[in-house]
Amino acid sequence: MTVRIEFARPDDWHVHLRDDEMLAAVVDHSARWFRKALVMPNLTPPITSAAQAVAYRERILAAVTVDAPHFDPVMSLYLTADLSPAEVTRAWNEGAICSIKFYPAGATTNSDAGGTSLLQFAPVLETMASLGVPLLVHAESTDPALDIFDREAAFLVDEVAPVLERMPELSVTVEHISTSTGIDMVRQFDQAYGSITPHHLTCDRSDILANGLRPELYCKPVINSAEHRKALAAAALSGDPKFFLGTDSAPHPLSAKEARVAKAGIFNAPYALEVVAELFHEHDALDRFEAFVSGNGAARYGVEPSTDRLVMERTEPAVAPVDTLETAAGDVVRLFGVAEAALWSISLL
Ligand SMILES: [Zn+2]
Repeated sequence: MTVRIEFARPDDWHVHLRDDEMLAAVVDHSARWFRKALVMPNLTPPITSAAQAVAYRERILAAVTVDAPHFDPVMSLYLTADLSPAEVTRAWNEGAICSIKFYPAGATTNSDAGGTSLLQFAPVLETMASLGVPLLVHAESTDPALDIFDREAAFLVDEVAPVLERMPELSVTVEHISTSTGIDMVRQFDQAYGSITPHHLTCDRSDILANGLRPELYCKPVINSAEHRKALAAAALSGDPKFFLGTDSAPHPLSAKEARVAKAGIFNAPYALEVVAELFHEHDALDRFEAFVSGNGAARYGVEPSTDRLVMERTEPAVAPVDTLETAAGDVVRLFGVAEAALWSISLL
């Protein structure tokens, strides 16, 4: 019997769409099936004002070439020392943003404008708490003395927990959770939520290192141990409304991914749904797939799920999935999830 699932058009609550030729090359892959796309603001220079967010959203929509009237990018401002409570208030009241994003300075791609400590931004955080603006946190210590696999947990304990304790009105999404510490912290605090990526759900560090080095699996926070992968998968598969899909799709040219010093980021928007569906199928949990990709995140951000319905069937598509794309500038980008994409087809009901 064919395995078939029907679900509300999903949302991607964490995606990097870039700009210029890369934006043009990748945006259709988010627009085709996703409704909301929470677009990260770490451009160069970063998105730090309502006007910049509105202009970036217009560039994104102008770059879409597939028929996607459903596609609705929602924006975030980059939390920098220059971001004032007044600008946050203006951006929120104008409806230009759905959130503010914190990056530890230097932790990942284009994060130099970020901060070292969350509480250095206390005045802005207090404004956000009073307005109801969600804070999105890239939780990763930049202490060079700490082992790379311990940096998420350290940041959560040292930086995120004190903010959650001090500001119970501030709602926080721990982005791309990569450890059981993140899962536990989200469960511990009422106002905390967690996005989880397809790659952290299905890969662990042995996949990166055991059979030859696979730079395509290098991302921040780094994919951690099998034990952590299982904790993440258990949280997603449980249907717990605090956890939802954020792909963290982050395209880089192969010249940057397979360089002597490789950039962090995995381009998974094209096949994210197939990767997640295959995980839920393997664990006999397809009845909770819709909650993870369409329901939980919408509820967290205060919107109704889409009224569009999609269908996925586990039948080998007639055409083998492509494994790379090329930008107008000639850059090649590798796609994550090709094996799963070969097992599933997606259509609009
Ligand atoms: Zn990201």
